[in-house]
Amino acid sequence: MERTWEELAPGVVRCRLAGWDETVGAVAGDESVLMIDAGPDTATSAALLRELRALFTRPVRHLALTHLHFDHVLGAPAVLGATRYAATGARALLTPEGRSGLVSDATAHGAEGDGARRDAAALTAPDIEVDTSLTVELGGRSVVLASAGPGHTGADLVVHVPDAAVVFCGDLVEESGEPQAGPDAHPSRWAAALDGVLTLGGPSARYVPGHGAVVDAAFVRSQRDSLARRFGNDTPTGPGARQCPDTDGGA
Ligand SMILES: [Zn+2]
Repeated sequence: MERTWEELAPGVVRCRLAGWDETVGAVAGDESVLMIDAGPDTATSAALLRELRALFTRPVRHLALTHLHFDHVLGAPAVLGATRYAATGARALLTPEGRSGLVSDATAHGAEGDGARRDAAALTAPDIEVDTSLTVELGGRSVVLASAGPGHTGADLVVHVPDAAVVFCGDLVEESGEPQAGPDAHPSRWAAALDGVLTLGGPSARYVPGHGAVVDAAFVRSQRDSLARRFGNDTPTGPGARQCPDTDGGA
């Protein structure tokens, strides 16, 4: 498959996968590579790993899962030997019902059923759940994983690369369409989650959406405001906004 890896900074890349246009990213240090999301199936992620090895000649030792939607995580079982990170709450979503939900979402979007069932069964719980934030050392480069949600799901993780001023946002930000809010979204918390993302990255960072082209802070702020209007809340912006009470009452 022809695939283009977009270089955002030296050692910081992302690609947009064919099909559902989801982002897979990677950050390389002197010693190891952190992969961000794993694509929709293990065949795809095995190919992605081969490409990352050719790009960086260092092992993928870390895998950050931005959230547990099939198009971002069903490739994870192929990322062998990597420590897997997700936001707190992700383990609790990997119930038998959660796994069958991943399969039904995948097949509803056109994935092949046997492969999706096999990948979902092989998907292990994350090794580390990030409650607030966690710094991962890659050798000469530190990357910050931060629990940013709930918002798009109950367990949303973002990845900040401070020296490159890049934030991988998962589906908390989407550029190629309206942010997708399914039954597992926490709509009234989403705007506050984006306040936290903007605080993390700052005004001059580049923000990598889960789907679509790389955007700037103004785009994220505008999407934050439109989500607040769309879901009828007016969560205050600025530091401390994430402390607001959970008022959505939904899944
Ligand atoms: Zn998603």
